[in-house]
Amino acid sequence: MRQSLVAGNWKMYGSKSSVESLVRALLEAGPLACQALIFPPVIFLDQVQRLLAGRSDIALGAQNADWHDEGAFTGEVSMSMVKESGCSHVLVGHSERRSLFGETNEQVALKASACLATGLTPVICVGESLAQRQADETTMVVEEQLRAVIEHLGIEALAQCIIAYEPVWAIGTGESATPEQAETVHVQIRKYLANADMNISKNIQVLYGGSVNAANAAELFAQENIDGALVGGASLKAEDFLRICRASA
Ligand code: PEP
Repeated sequence: MRQSLVAGNWKMYGSKSSVESLVRALLEAGPLACQALIFPPVIFLDQVQRLLAGRSDIALGAQNADWHDEGAFTGEVSMSMVKESGCSHVLVGHSERRSLFGETNEQVALKASACLATGLTPVICVGESLAQRQADETTMVVEEQLRAVIEHLGIEALAQCIIAYEPVWAIGTGESATPEQAETVHVQIRKYLANADMNISKNIQVLYGGSVNAANAAELFAQENIDGALVGGASLKAEDFLRICRASA
């Protein structure tokens, strides 16, 4: 039985005071209806870790980290650094990292591997652009993104990973994939994984991300192969995020 997970990607938003208000509002709502996971900007990880103390229903993750253990990589942080700041998860290969910072499938695989080697859970993001969807390339693109990870890590390692299907055209646009569109790709992801390992295909959590909000979450979560959401904009408002968590229960 796969557990529901609602993850909030706060991207590059917030200040010390807004982060404190947001976390306090989440905490004051009492135990959440689902397992939640939040990805604050890296500079706020320590602060959020302190605020969350003792609340196992809200896990902490980093939006990005480098695959090297340490070294002359100005501006980067390592997996062990974010782990020391309380993270249990790392977002790997978010489409903004791929498109704005040129992350390749191979680098995504290196990050996922470093993440696992550090005892962290990678949330591996995959998804097609609008042009790729229109050219009927969705399956090919998503499979290529997954293949790079599997070739590097081996299929068994996927047992320790989470996948987030995030169509690029749905991220931050207000235009979510329909539940049917999302479910179709989630089924394709499971079929692709089933070729290598049936158990992993059945048990891996596959989240949907792309303009999830309090109004559309329930119908997305009603799909058999959608195990939760990766939420950007709506995760910055405590009430919306809490409503999405309730919709997943
Ligand atoms: C995201 O940042 O991963 C995301 C899905 O953003 P939004 O919910 O704003 O589309």
